[in-house]
Amino acid sequence: MTPTRTTCPYCGVGCGLLAFPDGRVKGDPEHPANFGRLCSKGTQLGETIGLEGRLLAPRVDGQTSDWDTALGRVADRFSTAIRDHGPDSVAFYVSGQLLTEDYYVANKLMKGYIGSANIDTNSRLCMSSSVAGHKRAFGTDTVPGTYEDIEQADLVVLVGSNLAWCHPVLYQRLVAAKRARPSMRVVNIDPRRTATCGVADMHLAIAPDGDVALWNAVLARVVDDGAVDQAYVAAHVNGFDDSLASARASDPAKTASVTGLSPDELDRFTALWAATDRVVTIYSQGVNQSRQGTDKVNAILNCHLATGRIGKPGMGPFSVTGQPNAMGGREVGGLANMLAGHLDIENPAHRAAVQTAWSSPTICSEPGLKAVDLFKACADGKIKALWVMSTNPAVSMPDAMAVADAIRAVPFVAVSDIMADTDTTALADVVLPATGWGEKSGTVTNSERRISRQRSFLPVPGQAQPDWQIIADVAKRMGWGDDFAYANEAAVFREYAALSALGETFARDFDISNLANLDDNAYDALAPVFWPAPAKGPQQTRFFANGGFFHTDGKARMIPVTAHIAAAPDKDHPFRLNTGRVRDHWHTMTRTGKSARLSQHMGEPYLEIHPEDAIALGLHSASLARLTNDQGSVILRVLTSPTMRRGEVFAPMHWTAQTAPAGRINALVASVTDPVSGQPASKGSTVRINPYDPAWYGFICAETDITGTHPYHAIARAPNGWNAEVAGANIPQNWEQELRTLTGIHHGEVSLMTDTARSSARVALTSEGRLMAMLFASLGPVTVARGHISRLIGSQTPAVQALAGRSASGAVDPGAIICSCLGVGVNMIRTAIAGGASSVEALGNVTQAGTSCGSCRPELAALIDASRANLAAE
Ligand code: SF4
Repeated sequence: MTPTRTTCPYCGVGCGLLAFPDGRVKGDPEHPANFGRLCSKGTQLGETIGLEGRLLAPRVDGQTSDWDTALGRVADRFSTAIRDHGPDSVAFYVSGQLLTEDYYVANKLMKGYIGSANIDTNSRLCMSSSVAGHKRAFGTDTVPGTYEDIEQADLVVLVGSNLAWCHPVLYQRLVAAKRARPSMRVVNIDPRRTATCGVADMHLAIAPDGDVALWNAVLARVVDDGAVDQAYVAAHVNGFDDSLASARASDPAKTASVTGLSPDELDRFTALWAATDRVVTIYSQGVNQSRQGTDKVNAILNCHLATGRIGKPGMGPFSVTGQPNAMGGREVGGLANMLAGHLDIENPAHRAAVQTAWSSPTICSEPGLKAVDLFKACADGKIKALWVMSTNPAVSMPDAMAVADAIRAVPFVAVSDIMADTDTTALADVVLPATGWGEKSGTVTNSERRISRQRSFLPVPGQAQPDWQIIADVAKRMGWGDDFAYANEAAVFREYAALSALGETFARDFDISNLANLDDNAYDALAPVFWPAPAKGPQQTRFFANGGFFHTDGKARMIPVTAHIAAAPDKDHPFRLNTGRVRDHWHTMTRTGKSARLSQHMGEPYLEIHPEDAIALGLHSASLARLTNDQGSVILRVLTSPTMRRGEVFAPMHWTAQTAPAGRINALVASVTDPVSGQPASKGSTVRINPYDPAWYGFICAETDITGTHPYHAIARAPNGWNAEVAGANIPQNWEQELRTLTGIHHGEVSLMTDTARSSARVALTSEGRLMAMLFASLGPVTVARGHISRLIGSQTPAVQALAGRSASGAVDPGAIICSCLGVGVNMIRTAIAGGASSVEALGNVTQAGTSCGSCRPELAALIDASRANLAAE
């Protein structure tokens, strides 16, 4: 079977894959982002490509329709809104999941033909503070370095980045580099002690919003220790004196208090940074998702500019992006405040040049609405027609309940998606079936500016179409057919690459005009390539080693920044809420939620809280907690962890109305944004926490989907069907009926075990001896071994034996799954550690855990460390 070379659709590392027609995937050993490595999400892609839940035909007003009707309706409603209310009465909300070709065509339609810049992207939520910081410092949105710099550095500093879980292959490269060169130092700066600490020599549990104060302290130390590159600053940098004055304005006591770090920690870190030439500072959402995100980025960039540690091997600031094509979106002008090719909307010459290149009837004259403002405009009635492409803002936006209401208030809503039923498609008048990963073809750009081909290897299901084609078909119906008459995605790419020659005209960084003449075959065969790739002028891999910044004077700008705390907890909302990702899920789980393997690692939303805070609140591990603030209320499973700072809690952002209606954490995130970038402060809300005491707790496993209306309900794929956690407000009168209602199974025999003394009930439904469903209910959290029990579904295990938690084969409970690839659970790992396996490698030899993709290796190391700590304490 011949594999197709393509790229992973998840994170910004941009790993190359070999995809086989039967859905298997392997890491591409020749792709320079990963050299054959994959993480758990990439490895399990085959489990996510089934057609279950797919949208296979257009839907109009809730009814299955045809393309002509659906596209005609979209074109008509957008044209009518523009005619009656002007171009700014319509908006697109798009996604870093789109391919560059899709993104380009959407931008061209909105900015060059409709004449508005009301197109923004969910990348606004992830890295727009980095874009704004880059533009302030460099004059354009440039990532100066490459992944190789991370491996070549003597010091790697991770700031607000759980690299081990969110960019796992980059983490694996870092671990391998440190193993090969143990003198390399790694510092992890994060309020939480995350899995990324597995590679760190030093962990700084910084207080939320302490970043600017910390990096100002680094800048002052760089000066005090004589580490400023005076020649570089004199030749290439403005703003040094003012930035240093700002940095020195904070006395050491205040810095210690704002950062939450001890004077010794501050001294050791600032001295190490100042003394190390080859330093790479990686930053991500912990920096960007803040009311002061842009200032935090510039505080980091200031230190690299002052030392000239930028654009040279092993040196530089490094923003890692969340989504697979967040960078591609930035390049085509996917943000409401940018034009294609990193050109500026505010610049009349740039606008005129882009309009000329497109031969378009108009061009937007000013920046459009950024994501949060865009949905506020929807709520205010200013947006008459909205088109959401490849994203799920009714879940993923801050203040998600209000955003859902805002979308509901728009007179006409179109949604293009691969999935039929999402929180956002439920609000649409027209739903358009898009092709998904594996079926579509185009390009993506990863965090190091490397453009790679995503190639189709699966047949297109139903009536699905590529996003660029759908947009072009709507443009045609709006009267601009000739300008959107692309034969294929290669034709879109050629036009885009040709337009990028404006980079040379205006001396900008982005220029891929050398790729403008690729014919279809050459485009199809395109190997991963860095930008810039100009037709004229020098090729370069890194930027700024010798200056050459993109402000009009050619110099960089250091920006004076001052720390301030965004939302301090108070007596009404005493906990600071941090939100983020888990290792094995992606965004709103429309894909990873299909994988039983991935769903085993974290099967429901949770609240991570310090054990002493939990005790003070009357919470226990596995009980439920209600979090409340002015935005809303959610219910989450309690997970106590000493890795949290006191007064701070963490909750993941993946669960939706389909998977855990009460656990949508963005319902609590306030719509507070960075004033420069417009990026929401998704890690900066405050909440009140109380125990949530249901009448009963339940765990259900079944071969069917499990639905319910209980106050708490979280569903996950399992190896032989589905698992669900529920909590009910009233104890059911009839447990058999309860299970039948939840599972929709109304046939077969029932087995019931009740234990009045322990107030628990266990029910099984069987058909000819085959286990179809089981319910375990009790007054407190259910303690049954879930992974073990749910594997019995579909087997001939006698019901009585299964309800007792025993398998027919006598297999032991593996415990919570740690290694998703090979299904190795925590009980197996603890047994191996007790048996003498004292390293990750030894654990791999005994249990195979960590020997496939390696994403679980930090957790294996943490289990070994925890075991050592327990032994030492005994
Ligand atoms: Fe995909 Fe994992 Fe690579 Fe990210 S690190 S691109 S999720 S395989």
